[in-house]
Amino acid sequence: MEYAIRHVYDPDTSELYDAHEVFKHRELAYAFRKDFHANDQILLCRACDERATISLGSKGKMHFKHFPNTPDCDLKDGSYTRAERHQIEEHYANKERPRHKELKQAIGKWLGTFTDVDPASVYIDNKFLKDTKEKRRPDVLCTFNGKRIAFEIQLSTLPPKYIFKRHDFYKRNEIYLIWILDDFDPAGQSQTEKDIKYLTKHQNFFFFNDASPRHSLVAQYKKGLVNRNLNKVYYKWTHDSVDLKDLNFDEVDYQCYFVSYEQEQSKLELQNFKETNKNLLNDLREFYLKDDERLVSKFHFDIEALGFDDLTMLQKVIGLDNNHELLLKAAKSAKSYFLLYFLETSSINIDLSKSNNISDTLLQNILLPPKMLFRWKIIQLIFHHGYTMTESDRTFLKTFNFHEDMPGLRLQRIINLYAYNALGQRTHMEWFEKIDGTVYTVLSAKFNKIVGHGFHNFISLANNAIHSYKSTFTFIEQAFKFYKVWDKIIAEDKKQTFREKHEQFLRDKNQPTNMEGYFVLKLLFAEVFNPTGKTVEWIKLEDLQ
Ligand SMILES: [Zn+2]
Repeated sequence: MEYAIRHVYDPDTSELYDAHEVFKHRELAYAFRKDFHANDQILLCRACDERATISLGSKGKMHFKHFPNTPDCDLKDGSYTRAERHQIEEHYANKERPRHKELKQAIGKWLGTFTDVDPASVYIDNKFLKDTKEKRRPDVLCTFNGKRIAFEIQLSTLPPKYIFKRHDFYKRNEIYLIWILDDFDPAGQSQTEKDIKYLTKHQNFFFFNDASPRHSLVAQYKKGLVNRNLNKVYYKWTHDSVDLKDLNFDEVDYQCYFVSYEQEQSKLELQNFKETNKNLLNDLREFYLKDDERLVSKFHFDIEALGFDDLTMLQKVIGLDNNHELLLKAAKSAKSYFLLYFLETSSINIDLSKSNNISDTLLQNILLPPKMLFRWKIIQLIFHHGYTMTESDRTFLKTFNFHEDMPGLRLQRIINLYAYNALGQRTHMEWFEKIDGTVYTVLSAKFNKIVGHGFHNFISLANNAIHSYKSTFTFIEQAFKFYKVWDKIIAEDKKQTFREKHEQFLRDKNQPTNMEGYFVLKLLFAEVFNPTGKTVEWIKLEDLQ
């Protein structure tokens, strides 16, 4: 189906022809057509600048239409209704009106006043932008601080689809599109007004004020306000004159805005939350400052009573969202009860897996204060909440002396930290705690060097194991054989004490087996206990300097 075009123009003379005028009277219409052919006149579509021709309808009525095989044009798009096509025709006709021309020129001139706009980058209705799908000629185009901005003037009602297609085109080509609306009421309820309003998530609209001597762009936006009596947030349309440098650029949607509705919304919700939960926030502040366990009862039930959204808001307000700044701060001041409360309260959703502190880490800050109650419980909890050791932590641990509290335990502490890091779940860490000696023993066999224990030879390590870790000794024996230290132990067993204990161990059929411990061993030493599972290199010998 070929659609008629209402407006065409002659590129040589710039003369515009309106089909409604040219073909109104039959004789004049025929004369126009004759001249067109006789003079090989070129006529172009106003919307796409492609060649147009004159076609003769069945009842002798004439139309302009596109040449066959010209590229896509809004006026050829069959998905518009008759009424919508009419609106688009109107829009193109408006482009020829003085008001439209005036505005274009005024905007172009205004852009020229900015030092950050390269004058050579300003095009007023004379630059075609093409991509593989479409071509567009924006009313005004410029480059501001490396960003391309297109201005499209809208003086009449347009089909929403036409507006959406414009947006898609500019977004696809990484150009910020600013609609200049001349007669638009953001509070209006007409369909076009609503379409435009919800087109952009920021809900900012612009018009160009050329009425006063100092021309300016005017942004209309929703300002959020709080009704104190009703404790409700509401929004009011308002406007401000803005400069290009006042604009924010949304690099995802390629939209410009002055005040983002979304940001305004979250700012206000935050403000409202603070207002509503003043007492709770004061109690939490006091709890932080005094770090006194007895204060928990003052706010715990208030926190438990918060819904999901309010809990998220609370975390954001107090700094327990993804940046975890508050936890870091609390660790630096050794606020044990505070840390413990927030890490243990199940309704508070702390996700430490997204921590972005590379060097000033939470782990180091929990280890550093000389005195910190529940230090190891807190450490387990941070791993439970997804904390992962960083390279900086590894380097830190190589020289950290754990405040010299029992130097003999230093390597055990380090092994424990690496194990928590590998296990990640609180239950598994608790199971690990019950078999830590077994883990040090197996790890010693793996490294062929005694770590975590003070023994000087493997026979002492083995004698200790068979004496102290009965419920896991079967696994220890399996590991000794796997890592090839079993024969060494037998060779070192000059007095045969280990052999005797081992025979006795085998005779006792009522040995309990620690299955939870076995589960942990399978995770940490998959190569021995779970050969089809994933082997994790959770600790290296060089980590135990
Ligand atoms: Zn066209």
